[in-house]
Amino acid sequence: MPYQYDLGFGQKIYLDNSGLTTVITLASSGSGQQQQSGIQAQTGLWTEVPQAARTGSSVLLRCVTAQGVFVWQVQGTEIGVADAAAWPAQQALALQPAEAGLQAMPPIKPMTPMEPMAPMTMGNMHLSANPMTMQMGDMTLSMGNAEASAKKFCTQCGSAIQAGDRFCGSCGHQLQ
Ligand SMILES: [Zn+2]
Repeated sequence: MPYQYDLGFGQKIYLDNSGLTTVITLASSGSGQQQQSGIQAQTGLWTEVPQAARTGSSVLLRCVTAQGVFVWQVQGTEIGVADAAAWPAQQALALQPAEAGLQAMPPIKPMTPMEPMAPMTMGNMHLSANPMTMQMGDMTLSMGNAEASAKKFCTQCGSAIQAGDRFCGSCGHQLQ
């Protein structure tokens, strides 16, 4: 579980024990941009909650594992190993469990595209698309395919002809 220490001025230190490695991340979110720096150290598993202590302009961090005591010094954006003997135990504070601040935001759901027009009913009127049909009571209005069904073709050559034509315009075949 990661722990955090708030340095103020938009700076936070995160400590995590990943396997046998201690990961220290320094995150600055000042002046509109996020910056991160950090170190990793082979420490073994923590046996205590890590602690932090403020000393002047720097912050000391301390982890205790089966392998010993590890102390780091954070100054500005620099993280370095510090002398464990210099640990100011009386100023130390246990770190707080980290919020989800370092974790990536969940991906934003893509917008669902607009549905094509769905059949719609208002009172006794029913509208639907493809083909566009309007039904009102027992009256039905349909638009679109009416023309295709009225088309006629010459029985001789198969050319399209008008309904009232007496002769085919293509081959001259007498119709009707
Ligand atoms: Zn014809």
